[in-house]
Amino acid sequence: MHKKTYEVLIPAPAKVTPLDGALLLQEINGVFFDEAFSFLKNEFAALGNYLELKLQTAWENDAVIHCKKVCMEKDGAWSIRIENGKILLAAGDNTGIRYAFSALTQMLFAAGIEAQRTDALACVLIEDEPRFGWRSFLVDSARHFQKISVIKQVLNVCAALRLNSFHWHLVDDQGWRLPLKSAAKLTGSGTYSDGQYTRAELEEVAAHAKNLGITIVPEVDIPGHSRMLIENYPQLACDPANPGGELCIGNPGTQEFMKDVFRELMEIFPDSPVIHIGGDEAETANWEKCDKCRAAMEKRGLHTMRELENAFMVDMSRFIVENGRTPMIWGTCSGQVYPADTIIQVWLDIREPLRVAPNGNKTVYSVHTSLYFDYPANLSEPWETWMFELKESGVYMTDPYIIWPEQVKDSILGTEACLWTETVPQWRVMQKVLPRIFAYSECAWSAVDRKEYHDFVSRKELLEAAGYMQYLQQL
Ligand SMILES: [Zn+2]
Repeated sequence: MHKKTYEVLIPAPAKVTPLDGALLLQEINGVFFDEAFSFLKNEFAALGNYLELKLQTAWENDAVIHCKKVCMEKDGAWSIRIENGKILLAAGDNTGIRYAFSALTQMLFAAGIEAQRTDALACVLIEDEPRFGWRSFLVDSARHFQKISVIKQVLNVCAALRLNSFHWHLVDDQGWRLPLKSAAKLTGSGTYSDGQYTRAELEEVAAHAKNLGITIVPEVDIPGHSRMLIENYPQLACDPANPGGELCIGNPGTQEFMKDVFRELMEIFPDSPVIHIGGDEAETANWEKCDKCRAAMEKRGLHTMRELENAFMVDMSRFIVENGRTPMIWGTCSGQVYPADTIIQVWLDIREPLRVAPNGNKTVYSVHTSLYFDYPANLSEPWETWMFELKESGVYMTDPYIIWPEQVKDSILGTEACLWTETVPQWRVMQKVLPRIFAYSECAWSAVDRKEYHDFVSRKELLEAAGYMQYLQQL
């Protein structure tokens, strides 16, 4: 089935108005940038080299392509008008013009598809803006380590599909990837055979993400998932002889230690407005047996270890707020209440927004059965007993709003897909990301009335046939 070049776009844009005519690729002779958008000139030139098109910077009066700054209502909104002899990309901010560039890129690829080759762009006006402001992807670098070239590759794909947030899971039971003075025993070469980031590498990734319009949400997961930290700092355990994976939340020294860790984390990521502090899957067994934890519980007038855990995490949340950032936490479904300025990540139970919205908390939707990319897309992939099969169609159908009333919808900032890496070594990362991230991008970006699964599949197949996926992987 033939599709017009503007009918291949992923994620699907908000409004498409067909115009008469077509613009031949050979007419394209260069790009003129408004000063604000000249940062894209190298990327246009690189795309031009790849596709053998003239996409170098050109004079205003000559250039067929213009990148223009205009007023737009929403962050990341953009438009493209293709008409006889002219292509106008317009946006109100840097991410918007980048998204216009990404859409133009997909159309240029579509023009070269062998089976329906037109070597021309169909004339059109596209006006687009995101459904959700929060469009995130998580990579777990703790269970398996990835070198920064792989992380940057994932970021490039995210940016091309108009995602704007990258949640970086940097520590867990199996690994501690942060080089910190406050956790010096876990820092430096020789600590791990499979790798740790240097501060320069973390800053390089942060700069790369910023350039792509992606905000990094770095995570240090406490008080559970802390086995690696506790093995190296036994004083943080309830019982050093039998350390487990939970920090001792009754020991005042634990909070002081973790505040130093988060202080350094915030230094490394100065442009990250949101800091993730974990909060999931902690067992209470060691706390129940611990004198310090029991004393702390009684001193605070609490009745259960879950209440003490909640108090500990509230203290940590407040510390993040005192440092000018917004805390984020995994939802626990256990009725714990956090300060209203803490963002709750909904992963276990789709009903979590119903529970926390009345308290004023904002939420990000990443429910595991819909958006956990470690789950196998088909059962020939490696999987673990806690996983479900998660086909591309399942990802595509995901809708954070489900059936909620308006006040609950208002609490939902957006979505996040998560690539946990227990079964995903570095070489498998792109294999797990690429097929389903296209479907996910429409959950995050496209309005419901613009989504249609079979149309999505045909758009994706055309982009594949055009070599777009290979292009993305070499960026
Ligand atoms: Zn304890």
